[in-house]
Amino acid sequence: MNGTAPLILAHGGAGSRSITSEQQELLGAALRVGYHLLDRGAPAATAVEQTIRVLERSGRFNAGLGARLQLDGGRRMDASIMEGKNLQAGAVASIEDIVHPITAARLVMEETNHVLLVGPMATVFANHFKLERQRSPALRRRVPYGALLKRTKPISSRHGTVGAVAVDRFGTVAAGASTGGIARMLPGRVGDTPLIGCGVYADNRAGAVSMTGIGEGIIRIAAAKAICDRLAGGAVPIDSARQVLKMLVARIQGSAGSLVVTPAARFAIVHVTPYMAAGWWNGKGEPVVGDRFERVSIPTSR
Ligand code: ASP
Repeated sequence: MNGTAPLILAHGGAGSRSITSEQQELLGAALRVGYHLLDRGAPAATAVEQTIRVLERSGRFNAGLGARLQLDGGRRMDASIMEGKNLQAGAVASIEDIVHPITAARLVMEETNHVLLVGPMATVFANHFKLERQRSPALRRRVPYGALLKRTKPISSRHGTVGAVAVDRFGTVAAGASTGGIARMLPGRVGDTPLIGCGVYADNRAGAVSMTGIGEGIIRIAAAKAICDRLAGGAVPIDSARQVLKMLVARIQGSAGSLVVTPAARFAIVHVTPYMAAGWWNGKGEPVVGDRFERVSIPTSR
């Protein structure tokens, strides 16, 4: 093993609500799971997956058992994972009926030559690997499509999506994320979370990034890759994230938060929103968990 000191970061979403004490405890527990794996020499992608599984299983975040419903009552979830050594990635979008979409994403990365599986066939894939199932909610079949369409605006931002980034003992970074999406989504809506370069990115020559916030904005600036490009150009994590989040606000009035880590274990947690439920741990003392980190201020006039 070489000398990199491992580090894990996790988040439970960015938005206008402060973290609950239960969420705080869960994030701390999830960070412990991830860090102990890293400490024993596990790859960063394993730590990221297992950290996210704790949050998906809790039902206290907008992912896995707690994933929110789309306007027709369907629970369609998105997740992705990427590792920075070989730029391997896997993702699922609009997957249904399973507890751990992050594990489905990891299986896409490890068991197929593909990057992204979507919809019912993503669910078939997960079932093939016997991933744990959850009950599907009843669909609201009677609501006319025009009525659904009217209910999609404005999009509001709330806590709950989960994500993690890590660096392992070998200096490899990884990033992952899992979500039930945003409030008032049309059936079939997919956000940034399963899109490599938007919701997550990881490259050992730059770092690993996991985004949260309104996916429509994050997609339009390919935020995770934009932050990694700045890291690769020599900027430190906090400046890389700040620059991209500032651009997100200035250009398209977006709203987001990000976790960033480099192979040298430099890191930043930066958000535009009033709160971001997040934390980090390097094995020393207790995991640090809170809901206010580096805040990018929103200009009042443009
Ligand atoms: N980014 C997620 C999405 O747009 C939501 C979130 O992070 O809260 O689906």
